[in-house]
Amino acid sequence: EILLSRALERMEPSGTTAMTDRASALREAGRDIISLSVGEPDFPTPAHVIAAAKDALDRGLTKYTPVIGTQQLKEAAATHFERDLGLPTAAKDVIVSAGGKQAIFEALVATVNAGDEVVIPNPWWVSYAQIVKYAGGQVVPLVTQADNNFCFTARELEAVITPRTRWLLLNSPGNPTGAVYSAGLLAEIGEVLRRHPHVMVLSDDIYAPLNYTGQPHRTLAALCPDLKPRVCTISGVSKSHAMTGFRIGVATGPGWLLEAMGRLQSNSSGNACSISQAAAVAAFTGPQDFLDEWRERFRQRRDLVVQGINACPGLSTPSPDGAFYCFIDAAPLMQTYGNDEALALHLLEHGVAVVAASAFGGVDGFRISFAADDAVLEEALRRITLALS
Ligand code: PLP
Repeated sequence: EILLSRALERMEPSGTTAMTDRASALREAGRDIISLSVGEPDFPTPAHVIAAAKDALDRGLTKYTPVIGTQQLKEAAATHFERDLGLPTAAKDVIVSAGGKQAIFEALVATVNAGDEVVIPNPWWVSYAQIVKYAGGQVVPLVTQADNNFCFTARELEAVITPRTRWLLLNSPGNPTGAVYSAGLLAEIGEVLRRHPHVMVLSDDIYAPLNYTGQPHRTLAALCPDLKPRVCTISGVSKSHAMTGFRIGVATGPGWLLEAMGRLQSNSSGNACSISQAAAVAAFTGPQDFLDEWRERFRQRRDLVVQGINACPGLSTPSPDGAFYCFIDAAPLMQTYGNDEALALHLLEHGVAVVAASAFGGVDGFRISFAADDAVLEEALRRITLALS
């Protein structure tokens, strides 16, 4: 007999992981599958980061650290928040977790009560909605459209806020859509939030350096310092420094919230891996110039994919301004394939793993990651075109 808690029964397994696992199983069975379903850079972790990890082992940094992170990493993260996000931050106002995901989980679970509403721009990153449901909150979708580059407007935000709204989630650059919120739009959002002082904001800036607009990264707490006491800003090294396996995320926000997050962490995972923390110090304080090259290569791949997808009958996508995903509309194909999951399985049959839009709370489409080599992307586009012809 399976006896789960009611909290866990509300949570579903991650839809992106499910597709990645299915693609791996097919590959192990000898099939030639291109996986465009995962959310990680294909570039190797920078050499100076690897060296720092090895050095940490040699120096015997293999024991517990303070639960919410080493002083060195909190200082390095504070530097990162100020340099890369424009957000002046003190080391004492930083918490280090096992990935950005853990920080997001802790912030929501520490604050959401049964029936509290959490506004999430939709389509959304899979885990936001699952965590809110686990915590007993109500997910309030703020539906965005491709023709507005998947950004919501200040007016649309104001329309969904109620006295029960606990949080607004912001994710710029965004997964799965690549949405980037401009300084002007963030200022308008700030205006709305000033009228609703009970709403907190979780700003997930994990893709901050991967922005192709040519503009510096903008974040709410930096643009509207008066709102800082109710903004929790999340960042990390997973996406920016190709360190997904190291599991390091960082967050800053009001002291009472960081204390609550640390309380959860002290009674669950404890500190993030000591070796990974040392590597993350090197990531934040070492050279950042490789990012210019990565950004340029991602931008070129984006252009390749956007052009290839829009040339494919039945598919369309705007050009994403950030991150490394295209959120593709396939509504004209739904009559043929039935639904987006059937379409994703059809593409998998033709050798390309993608994630159906419904995994992100979307409809009639799919997400692909363009964090793959040009030749791989070209072959994937060829297979997709063939599969749909
Ligand atoms: N936030 C967003 C929007 C993401 O796409 C991801 C990873 O997929 C995360 C957070 C979590 O990153 P991490 O690997 O640091 O936990």
